[in-house]
Amino acid sequence: MKAVSVVPRQPGSARCLDVEPPRRRRGEVEVRTLAVGVCGTDEEILTGLYGVAPPGAERLILGHEACGVVERAGGGFRAGELVTPMVRRPCPERCGNCRAGEQDMCLTGHYRERGIKELGGFMAERFVESPAYLVPLARPLRSVAVLLEPLTVVEKGVGQTFRLQRRLRWRPRRALVLGAGPIGLLGAALTRSLGLATAVWSRSLSPSRAAWLERLGAEALDSECHPLAELPGRLGNLDLVLECTGAPAVILDALLALGVNGVLCLLGVSGGDRTLEVPVARWNLRTVLANQVVFGSVNANRRDFEAGARHMAAWARRWPGLLEALVTRQEPPERFEAAARRERADIKTVVRFGE
Ligand code: BGC
Repeated sequence: MKAVSVVPRQPGSARCLDVEPPRRRRGEVEVRTLAVGVCGTDEEILTGLYGVAPPGAERLILGHEACGVVERAGGGFRAGELVTPMVRRPCPERCGNCRAGEQDMCLTGHYRERGIKELGGFMAERFVESPAYLVPLARPLRSVAVLLEPLTVVEKGVGQTFRLQRRLRWRPRRALVLGAGPIGLLGAALTRSLGLATAVWSRSLSPSRAAWLERLGAEALDSECHPLAELPGRLGNLDLVLECTGAPAVILDALLALGVNGVLCLLGVSGGDRTLEVPVARWNLRTVLANQVVFGSVNANRRDFEAGARHMAAWARRWPGLLEALVTRQEPPERFEAAARRERADIKTVVRFGE
């Protein structure tokens, strides 16, 4: 079968190769891959910045944003069912959190991630998986199921926000999303569907993204015309800020713009080692006096996948075609390199298998 793999830390080593199909162990489910999304983490792996091959192997099969159809059933899954696999697997030490099914909160840092760290990914014609890590989706979501994994990143961040805010009587009205990549746009869909007035702030917002946000009923703000520091004056108290850029200067401005009793949820991964001067006294004063929370969130729990699958089904009814519009390019596995090269009009590019 065809599979796209890399030699981690070796830029330019990615190939689409013919490999042995995976062997199914007892209780596992065999899945025929439909589509695999390409994201910033894949770009980092392709450029040699990140990624770890499975022990004893030279190559790592890429791909962690996947969906497929059950080919050979097992563990309660039926043939023909639409599924999305989870990404992270427990650490070998089985720390308390991994044992409790919270490997997204692993204590040792030795967790493994399919397509990223020590486990082969899903960018292949087929994959096998334990039913414990497969999430079923309603069949009409077939063309957008590949978006479930990126959605779970914001599902976790927003879900955790609401859990944290049980510390007070919190009636959020206003969300600000920083960044209009797939994570930011999906985050805006989520905060809108939770009834929050939502603005998305980003540099060079393309007309297609602005139109997408308009359909959602979210405001699109171009960073060129609207400095982040001025947004509280324009929008009002920022109850929830979802930071999806990872850009140091944006994070600093976000810390200072956050509202009373507000939550800043950091979802973007920063690259490099840029340093900035931080007005710690001003920031601390504000954080303390306004009872704020700043927290980071990575990966996702099973509950976030299930919440995402429910939300996607609801959004397909409320905003028909909206999720489809995020998948702006599809490439065959042989053209994975073109898929990973970002073009201006791209929102989410996917590698499509089969039909
Ligand atoms: C994935 C997460 C993963 C993270 C770090 C992201 O691209 O969506 O599931 O935990 O990368 O490897």
